[in-house]
Amino acid sequence: MIRALFLHSLLLILYRLLCTKNMSSNIPKTEKKRIVIVGGGFGGLILAERLKKSPYQVVLIDKYNYHQFPPLLYQVSTSGLEPSAITFPYRKIFQRRKDFYFRMAEVSGINSDDKSITTSIGEISYDYLVLAAGTDSNYFGNDDLNKYTFPMKNIPESLTLRNRLLQNLENALTADSPAQKQSLLNIAIVGGGATGVEIAGAIAEMKRYILPKDYPDLNVQDVNIFLIEGSDRILRSMSSEASQKAQSFLEDMGVTVKLNTIVDDYDGKTLRLKNGSTWMTSTVIWCSGVKGVSFTGLAEEVVARGGRVRVDQYNEIDSLSGVFAIGDICFQQELRYPNGYPQVAPVAIQQGKHLAKNFKRIAQGKPMLPFSYKDKGSMATVGRNRAVVNLYGFNFGGLTAWILWMTVHLMSILGVKNKIIVLLNWIWNYFTYDQSLRLIIKPSSRHKK
Ligand SMILES: Cc1cc2nc3c(=O)[nH]c(=O)nc-3n(C[C@H](O)[C@H](O)[C@H](O)COP(=O)(O)OP(=O)(O)OC[C@H]3O[C@@H](n4cnc5c(N)ncnc54)[C@H](O)[C@@H]3O)c2cc1C
Repeated sequence: MIRALFLHSLLLILYRLLCTKNMSSNIPKTEKKRIVIVGGGFGGLILAERLKKSPYQVVLIDKYNYHQFPPLLYQVSTSGLEPSAITFPYRKIFQRRKDFYFRMAEVSGINSDDKSITTSIGEISYDYLVLAAGTDSNYFGNDDLNKYTFPMKNIPESLTLRNRLLQNLENALTADSPAQKQSLLNIAIVGGGATGVEIAGAIAEMKRYILPKDYPDLNVQDVNIFLIEGSDRILRSMSSEASQKAQSFLEDMGVTVKLNTIVDDYDGKTLRLKNGSTWMTSTVIWCSGVKGVSFTGLAEEVVARGGRVRVDQYNEIDSLSGVFAIGDICFQQELRYPNGYPQVAPVAIQQGKHLAKNFKRIAQGKPMLPFSYKDKGSMATVGRNRAVVNLYGFNFGGLTAWILWMTVHLMSILGVKNKIIVLLNWIWNYFTYDQSLRLIIKPSSRHKK
């Protein structure tokens, strides 16, 4: 038994050595305690920012070299905004910051015994670890949906979707048969949450205002947009008034909303529904569910529903002292939220700010303070002059809601330049009903790496 254990540990060490051969994070070890933050999204970024001038060395790791603003990804997918308008390079954000290190790497595992993480650039040790890696799309175990549908959770996925939508229009003009042409012009969006509603509205506006001008030899009435939702209403996290209003806005704009409809499978050509019906489409946009980013080394019992990591009221993972989780990846309950907090930006931001305070308290030898989420409301936009808002118990929709939606999103985007670019784009779009970003940009086949 002891020999087997010894052999197992030896093999593990050898494996790690092999995996990290020629790789090094090159982060100097100092006397300061090191906080490693995995993921620079809403939660991780604010935490790293708030730890400025703290007595810690801060290491931020992200698989991309930029912070992104997911609420406006749908505008990148529909050629309304350039990716650079809603992204910000980490190295620029943290210019001149002392005792701070950014490493672009993918984290795959946690080795709590030796307080290190396994990453694509080698092992990195920590004194405190914060998981802020958010979520991945959830296909509920269906490999076909994973393979053939288009998710929209980050910039690369949004650009892939933009290429597909534009390429399909080009291909429709030269399609061999009416059936093939129709399939190219049929667009299904699965999931009637805010993301599904927003992308459906944006595609409908493209159909109404842009396609007739760009594609005069295409009958744009042939473009069909279906929004498929498994439950009995869209925008389930908002009030039923907001759901009804958003649905009537969408229908008014030509989107077919299918409620109580579950997707069964999709093979890249035919979308099959659980009720037995089928629909030929070459674009299925997947906005139907998320699961927490997974890491090896986490015990089964700390992983809750939706792959989220169970944390206590201080955001610390139950059985792992010094390891915290914030934002979408964490499952934190309180009486008002038996199924955990909603996976939205304000939760991640509030948790990031709160944890920064708690780290400072730890350094001062004070006990940590418990976290509690302050919900200010929610909103979603459907299109020009159309949005729905639930705020401090008030429900409203239409132009006022739309202006509020734009103001809140504009204020939340990082960087003055990005705010100005987004605002100018919106003003330009509003008055011209047009935008010149409809570019199909594919990676060069000569340089795959
Ligand atoms: C399309 C879309 C629209 C949305 N709209 C809204 C909205 O209007 N309002 C709202 O409140 N919320 C919205 N959300 C939800 C909101 O974006 C999330 O709740 C929020 O981003 C969660 O923040 P986070 O810090 O937990 O994770 P994220 O912001 O997702 O950040 C996670 C970070 O971790 C990095 N990462 C992931 N895995 C690894 C790994 N293995 N190694 C290294 N780095 C990794 C990622 O690159 C990313 O930078 C939207 C989400 C999407 C996808």
